[in-house]
Amino acid sequence: MRDILHCDLNGFFASVECLKRPELKNVPMAVCGDPDTRHGVILAKNEIAKKYGVVTAETIYSAKKKCPKLVLVKSNHSDYIKYSKLVNNIYLKYTEKVEPFSIDESFLDVTESKSLFGTPYEIAYKIKEDVKNTLGLTISVGVSFNRILAKMGSDLKKPDAITVLSKENFKDILFPLPVKDLIFCGKSTCNTLNKMRIETIGDLANSDVNRITKKLGKMGLMLYNYANGIDSDKVEKYGTKHTPKSVSKGVTFPKDITSIEELSNIIRKLSDYISTNLRKNGLTCSVVCISIKDNMFCVINRQKQIFKTDLYQDISNVAISILKENYTDNRPIRAITVSVSGLESQDDQVQLDIFTLNSNKKNDLTKEKLENVTKTIDNIRNKFGDKITFGSMIEKEKNINEEK
Ligand SMILES: [Mg+2]
Repeated sequence: MRDILHCDLNGFFASVECLKRPELKNVPMAVCGDPDTRHGVILAKNEIAKKYGVVTAETIYSAKKKCPKLVLVKSNHSDYIKYSKLVNNIYLKYTEKVEPFSIDESFLDVTESKSLFGTPYEIAYKIKEDVKNTLGLTISVGVSFNRILAKMGSDLKKPDAITVLSKENFKDILFPLPVKDLIFCGKSTCNTLNKMRIETIGDLANSDVNRITKKLGKMGLMLYNYANGIDSDKVEKYGTKHTPKSVSKGVTFPKDITSIEELSNIIRKLSDYISTNLRKNGLTCSVVCISIKDNMFCVINRQKQIFKTDLYQDISNVAISILKENYTDNRPIRAITVSVSGLESQDDQVQLDIFTLNSNKKNDLTKEKLENVTKTIDNIRNKFGDKITFGSMIEKEKNINEEK
């Protein structure tokens, strides 16, 4: 049995703006991407704007219709990151297991904090008051025995509130709610469930799981478990890093390209970006993939296994060989993307790679040399920026619009 809290800052962006300019507290206000264009959307609103029916993610146009006096403030992301860190630092006073879920939400495992700070409800209350007194921000807290129910709980009462979902009460509280209120139950999933006459979370919890998985696969099983309050995901310690699944970089050309040399050169640049990114994050890859889009918008994706590497030369050599095997008709190419997957953190690698196992001394030396050159380039780039590059990439530099 674990004790999990989900702490959700109320109207976070708007609250931070109100801290900076207290006069905004007394007028209906909302934070949006860019108030000068009518295309922006509402990112957050204060309580007064909420009373007018302004909701997150609606267009500025529609929000202004509901509340013509709505004051719009441009978002300041660096301020939100700063406050987000400050809030997480407060959470860390109560447990080391603090896992940010987004900029304004974190999961806390307080199972081991009870002897110091009291019951989970008391801990939630202390944290809520601490955040309010220290920073002037309010939070809603969900208290439960797993992450999913804690998250659902923090949504039930807000602002500045605590909701406890226990083994005893969670069915009474959640089962009557529409199934769309279940976490990760999106619009189309919800429609599918509704067609199966599943209207509420309780309907889903009491349905035949085989019927659900037949229609919705793994996603269905996950939702069925959530509806039944089953979730065994752990809350990670603060700062735990997750290895990404892939790294990619692509470009769309201002003019279609038909020259294999030119395409190869672009692949070298993309591979250099990717390998620098891998090394920055201490990762290696074991699969290289290229995706080529021609002028008829026809896309082909091809991939190849590779020995574990983080070197630009390895990635670009494989990517170029894939290009040469798959691009033989000189049709005009509009865009190209290189991506790598099979990523592993270098700290976890004990196994020798195939390259090292199969190589003779000459290969080892070449690889060592390349690694040294790469390290030197990384160091120079860290000092002087990205201007330095490999000689093999210098020819035919065309203006390329970077996409990712
Ligand atoms: Mg929030």
